[in-house]
Amino acid sequence: MFEHVDAYAGDPIFSLVEQFMQDPREDKVNLTIGFYFDEDGKVPDFNCVNTAKAWAAANPPASPVYLPMDGLPDYRVAVKSLAFGDALPLVDSRLASTQSLGGSGALKVGADLLKRYFPDSEVWVSNPTWENHHSIFKGAGFKVNTYRYYNPETKVLDFEGMLADLNQLPEQAVVLLHPCCHNPTGIDLTTEQWQQVVAIVVKRNLLPFFDMAYQGFGFGLTEDTKAIQLMAETGQPFLLAQSFSKIFSLYSERVGALYVVCESSATAENVQGQLKFTVRTNYSTPPSFGARLVNHVLGSEALTNEWQTELEAMRERMHSMRQQLVEKLGELRPDVDFSYLAAQVGMFSYTGFSPEQIKRLKDEFGVYLIASGRMCVAGLNSRNIDATAKAFAAVC
Ligand code: PMP
Repeated sequence: MFEHVDAYAGDPIFSLVEQFMQDPREDKVNLTIGFYFDEDGKVPDFNCVNTAKAWAAANPPASPVYLPMDGLPDYRVAVKSLAFGDALPLVDSRLASTQSLGGSGALKVGADLLKRYFPDSEVWVSNPTWENHHSIFKGAGFKVNTYRYYNPETKVLDFEGMLADLNQLPEQAVVLLHPCCHNPTGIDLTTEQWQQVVAIVVKRNLLPFFDMAYQGFGFGLTEDTKAIQLMAETGQPFLLAQSFSKIFSLYSERVGALYVVCESSATAENVQGQLKFTVRTNYSTPPSFGARLVNHVLGSEALTNEWQTELEAMRERMHSMRQQLVEKLGELRPDVDFSYLAAQVGMFSYTGFSPEQIKRLKDEFGVYLIASGRMCVAGLNSRNIDATAKAFAAVC
């Protein structure tokens, strides 16, 4: 019956993490998967989330019934303020939204909805992008294409190429955009560059789908939403996926949201219904625990302040690690220009190393990066940064 089922090659990142775990070397360095590790190499809990967990344990839901298909109503209100900030009044009356199973779940529900109502559209993602973007949109039945983003020669943004490619797209093409902390390159657009992208989106009547998995890891909670603010000001429809996996350290609870900004409130009402239908036919209703935690933190001024302080400390630690690495590399290899690394932001950096260099880093030095050359900056700490810099310098 199942003889025709192919073997699954496995997810390359999860497989590499497995390999790292098996590696007996004590000085091995894990710069693979996108987890926020602290200075001690641990994936930490937020204090504010622990407070919320204690509250949740003391205040269980009145009855353990299903949540609505589109999630916990208070949560949906709390998280939209975070995603849209000052631009919320510009979109609120024409907004459809649903709680989601992390950012991936938001992308999947959005992709399924789009495929149903834009069956002839194709999807364009940046080259490169988070690998699962390809899989999720292909899985929803879309043809997935790429627009230029990273220039491997210069190791910086190919902005001219990006604009030229976006300028060629047909109407209603779905364009996946990273509003901040681009995964995998760490290369973000400036406000002026976003203005130009948004102008093309409007001129060509494209359908942008923003994927925001790292709000606050770049420059700040508000600063990281500038693309969304600019898009909201145009009055044009767009989609936004939001994830709380990293920014609340709630990876396994699967907490996120999907927003569809429509042209009018009447349209938004229909889209809201179709979001519910999409959820109903996938997994029926979402879990409540993670959403209750996020809602509790965002519903309390004191806990929100604590969360912002904790988030800021993470952002600053990653920034400091990246700068220190670049300084150390500058001392070890003054003949090589590593300034491109210093200009990148967020959890990831694109080293530009070839697959051969990545293999040498792993085999000779026990420094693990993913094959594309992406490094998780949060894996650096004061105990492994010297060894990492030496290994990088050696393979250059
Ligand atoms: N989008 C991007 C760009 C990501 O990097 C990630 C997480 N790796 C996600 C979405 C998915 O987030 P989640 O774990 O919340 O599903």
